[in-house]
Amino acid sequence: MSIWRATVLTLFPDMFPGPLGVSLAGKALASGIWALEARDIRASATDRHRSVDDTPAGGGPGMVLRADILAAAIDAADAPPALPRLLMSPRGRPLTQSGVRELATGPGALIVCGRFEGVDQRVIEARGLEEVSIGDYVLSGGEIAAMALIDACVRLLPGVMGKAESGAQESFSDTLLEYPQYTRPQTFEGRAIPDILTSGDHAKVAAWRTAEAEALTRVRRPDLWAARQLRKNTTDG
Ligand code: SAH
Repeated sequence: MSIWRATVLTLFPDMFPGPLGVSLAGKALASGIWALEARDIRASATDRHRSVDDTPAGGGPGMVLRADILAAAIDAADAPPALPRLLMSPRGRPLTQSGVRELATGPGALIVCGRFEGVDQRVIEARGLEEVSIGDYVLSGGEIAAMALIDACVRLLPGVMGKAESGAQESFSDTLLEYPQYTRPQTFEGRAIPDILTSGDHAKVAAWRTAEAEALTRVRRPDLWAARQLRKNTTDG
């Protein structure tokens, strides 16, 4: 099987691997579980000044990444046709854990990082870029968004996380937020670890964790809770 491959198109290739070069993702990168290529969009510039952007048609503030330059950069990356082509974009489909899981089981992704006011609409259409957002806020560039997406995928690749099951129990896997975690010391500033967790009764521990996860989700994320109730009702009935 070929390794999971992230090809990132950016004006700032020096930002990579950055945080992806340490800890879980970094070790997996070094051991060849995944591969990262950061390609400089500016290498596809054609004029003397190596310019990649221009003023928006119709007026307005800022600059827009040119369609011809970005298309040339995408073509030069020579990605296999089966590779998903993503554009990090606040207008995109919100990234979710199920979307991450789907990407992680595929061959990898070609990821375009925008800058300035964004990219010319025609390259999005002409190269079939799928816009992906990491949340309802605006970053100054797509690089940090791409890193978030890659990090979320890489930790799901086989052999990256210590225990196979450690991915199955965490937040969002069953549309529940994760239960509270504790470790030594037994007492911290007068606060003890809940007795059940040190009781050795595995069934009680599991029941406590489920109850805590449900309570947290109900209070903090009524949207996730409502979706879960809806799904339960349709599968039960
Ligand atoms: N004018 C644009 C914002 C441009 S921000 C608008 O209002 O939609 C510059 C670049 O940062 C974008 O092209 C995109 O690549 C990246 N970016 C900003 N916020 C993002 C988000 N929430 N998710 C993913 N990428 C984002």
